[in-house]
Amino acid sequence: MSYCEYCRKLPLGNIHRTYHDTKYGIKIYDDHELFGRFILEINQAGLSWDIILKRETEFRIAFDQYNFERIAHYSEADVARLMNNKGIIRNRKKIEAVIHNANQVIALRKEYGTFFAWIESIESKNTEEWVKLFKKNFKFVGTEIVKEFLFSIGKLEGAHEKDCPMFLPLKKHYEITHYYKFSLFSSTFFICTN
Ligand SMILES: [Zn+2]
Repeated sequence: MSYCEYCRKLPLGNIHRTYHDTKYGIKIYDDHELFGRFILEINQAGLSWDIILKRETEFRIAFDQYNFERIAHYSEADVARLMNNKGIIRNRKKIEAVIHNANQVIALRKEYGTFFAWIESIESKNTEEWVKLFKKNFKFVGTEIVKEFLFSIGKLEGAHEKDCPMFLPLKKHYEITHYYKFSLFSSTFFICTN
């Protein structure tokens, strides 16, 4: 069963249903939220998305509302604090990668203005090229992580199945935003009516 099919059978209010209907495949214009999604995708490596979604609130609190300016300056004491937090994923490599990546986001913002703008500035790469680019800039970015991150933020098409009610509106959104690259469409505009 595909993720779309699985989610659409769930009752409204279920975390997967909400994620599928209101977040998955939808662009994130806010850099802190964008970095937050990146954190979640990195932490999913080797685990189920279910575990990550259930801990999203804890992640958000533990990582200062995904404020990469703060995360970039995390000390060894912060790493210890996170390693003791049962609400998140206590994996030192993942935590250190997030801190490193926060610094990289700051560097990219100096050049491109925003993390979002950096991602949007990159055109038509295949997965392999995307992974290469991510590996050049970030840590803990294997093929699956990069692919899922780009699906989840609507940069790569493929989040939703063709028969999913989210597919067509997002395809349209994808095409429009690729044409008017930096226009500000609301990311909460689409509501699944299935
Ligand atoms: Zn779907």
